[in-house]
Amino acid sequence: MLQSVDVGDRSMRTHRGIAPDPLMDELSKVAQSLRGLRVLYLNATPYGGGVAELLRSMVPLLNDLALVTDWRIIHADDRFFEIAKAIHNGLQGANGGLSAKDRRTYEATSRANAEQLDGSYDVIVVHDPQPAGVRRHHGGTEAHWVWRCHIDTMDPDPEVVDFVRGYLDGYDAAVFTLDEFVLPDLPVARAVSIPPAIDPLSPKNLSLPEDLARQVLDWIGIRLDRPLITQVARFDPWKDPLGVIEAYRIVREQVPDLQLALVGSTAADDPEGWHIYEQVQAIGRKDDLVHVFSNLNGVGNVEVNAFQRLSDVVVQKSVREGFGLVVSEAMWKQTPVVAGSVGGIPLQLADGAGGFLVDDVEKCAAAIARLLADPAERDRLGELGRERVREHFLLPRLLLDELNLMKELTCS
Ligand code: UDP
Repeated sequence: MLQSVDVGDRSMRTHRGIAPDPLMDELSKVAQSLRGLRVLYLNATPYGGGVAELLRSMVPLLNDLALVTDWRIIHADDRFFEIAKAIHNGLQGANGGLSAKDRRTYEATSRANAEQLDGSYDVIVVHDPQPAGVRRHHGGTEAHWVWRCHIDTMDPDPEVVDFVRGYLDGYDAAVFTLDEFVLPDLPVARAVSIPPAIDPLSPKNLSLPEDLARQVLDWIGIRLDRPLITQVARFDPWKDPLGVIEAYRIVREQVPDLQLALVGSTAADDPEGWHIYEQVQAIGRKDDLVHVFSNLNGVGNVEVNAFQRLSDVVVQKSVREGFGLVVSEAMWKQTPVVAGSVGGIPLQLADGAGGFLVDDVEKCAAAIARLLADPAERDRLGELGRERVREHFLLPRLLLDELNLMKELTCS
């Protein structure tokens, strides 16, 4: 059997009073109608990146809502994860293609995982391209299969789309973050868009008293008497950490004591990340005010919480972005965000709430400098940002959207 991820228990009641009441009421009602529904979530990694972040919160809450929910991880070697990353990159628009051998490896790993997947489920939700091929080799199941794609597929490589499309036969629905991401000519009956959301009660997002947050950052060497900007993101070219460093250098000409923190993780399924990590570390070693942190040197959820809370500005200079949970995470903490105007980010920073959208390094630097010079504007944007997240991007809304889809699938 595929490895199961242990998530513990959590209570939906604790979200009352945080998310809007009508939403909580509707969620209870829909969940009640799905009592006992057996749901499996399948993905590639139990930690690192947004999908793991989401599942860790969603799975125990769905159990609390009386569904019977399981989270399992596919098993694969490094070569498979390199191929999966190439597929991910191709869906985000990189050229490179897949060799015949790569295709055979993907096929063989998908088959091997399908053979190890047993158990009876009503709905199986498969996240992203890594496990997508399992469906093809898993015949005879009564389950409804959903492929959940978190990638910015606005402008994908056609050859990679063809490859992925070939594995989607047999799915009952495909879910994307935005309508604009829905891939054309999918062999599925339903294609819908559902944006992700953040868990306001996870250690990363729960309210952290300011003095505690200050101690946490002080402990790891951040000077809180100096301005601080932070990007929290996997070390990945699409997140453009090198562009953040360029923007920071421009701003430092006006704000010489400015600190930059790059907080990034490297995931088991992300071999490319190591290279970027080494590059930014080398830059950090030459500049005392550039701090590079990762899960490898003990910087986890609570530290990320403190960074997103205490930074003067949070940056997310992505050049492609499926959603970018980090944007909502910072907005929830009333910290203004300067972020790339790509993928799922404009949806979060819509209507002037939460921060500024930027297209290049110069505009990024200008927006950061403007915010550093204007505390009142930072406060104003921060407040609007928190309200926007409360309305649209808290977990109960995501659970409701997903349960409504499951209801449509299982009741039709
Ligand atoms: N994250 C983290 N530590 C890091 C880097 C990222 O905890 O060093 C978290 C981040 O807070 C967010 C998730 O990983 O919850 C990343 O999700 P996002 O949607 O922003 O990007 P993805 O990695 O899925 O592309």
